[in-house]
Amino acid sequence: MTDAVRIENVSFSYGEAPALRDVSLTIAEGEFLGLIGPNGSGKTTLLSVMLGLVEPDEGSVELFGEPIESFEDGHRIGYVSQKSTEKGTAMPVTVEEVVEMGRYPHVGSGRLREEDHQAVEAAMARVDITDLADRKLNTLSGGQRQRAFIARALASDADLLALDEPTVGVDAESRDRFYGLLDELNSEGITIVLIEHDIGVVTDRASRIACLNTELYHHGDPESFHESDALERAYGSTGQVVGHHH
Ligand code: ADP
Repeated sequence: MTDAVRIENVSFSYGEAPALRDVSLTIAEGEFLGLIGPNGSGKTTLLSVMLGLVEPDEGSVELFGEPIESFEDGHRIGYVSQKSTEKGTAMPVTVEEVVEMGRYPHVGSGRLREEDHQAVEAAMARVDITDLADRKLNTLSGGQRQRAFIARALASDADLLALDEPTVGVDAESRDRFYGLLDELNSEGITIVLIEHDIGVVTDRASRIACLNTELYHHGDPESFHESDALERAYGSTGQVVGHHH
C-alpha cells in the first residue's frame, strides 16, 4: 500500500523565525493522525505544506506516492480550514452549491451530470444534512457548516481529509457527533489528519499522534505518546495544555 503523505526533512520559515525545522513524517493510507502542539507550534503550517499551499524551504513532500510538484489529483484531498468553519463564507451560497463544488474537479468546465448530482445527494445524506440543502451557509451553526464542508470533500471522492481545529465554536453535543462521523469515515478507509487543541479528544480518537513544536517531538501510537515526555517537551513547563473533558 502506498503512503497517503510522506514528508521528508521539511524546514520552513515565514521570515527569520523557523516555523518547521527538519520535520519528517509519514502517514499511511487509512491512518487517523492527530496533530498536536501548543499555539504557534507550526501545526497549520505543516498541514499547509502537506496540501501544497506552502512550499517548504527544504525537504520534500509526496502525496499518494507522487511528488507534490506533479500531483494532480487535488480532488483526493479534502481540506477543512479553521477559517472556513469559523466564519462560514462571505458568499451567500447554499449548502447544496458548496457540496456541488466537490464535483467541479470531475467535470472540468462542463455542467454537472446526473451522476454528479447523485454524488452530491449521497454526500449530503452521508453526513445528514439533506434537509439543509437550500439553506445559505452563513445561516448555519458551526457544526452544520462542518458537515457541509465534509460533504463537499466526500462528493469529490476525497481519500484524505485534513481538518484544522474543526470543532472550534461547535457545541459539545455537535462535537461528539462530528467526531463520531470522523470515526465512521476513517473506518471506511478515509485517511484523516486532524489538528485539535483538546489533547484528550485526539488521543482517544486517533490511531497515531504527531506532537510538534517547530520540531517533531513524537510520532507514534497514542500509548507510546503517553509514555513519552513529548507533551512536556513540546508544551514546556508553563503548559497551556487543554485537559480531557467528559
Ligand atoms: P499553529 O497552527 O500550531 O498554531 P502556525 O503554523 O499557525 O502554528 O504558526 C507557526 C508559526 O509561524 C507561529 O510563530 C506563527 O506566528 C508563524 N506564522 C504563521 N503564519 C504566518 C504568516 N502568514 N506570516 C508570518 N508568520 C506566520
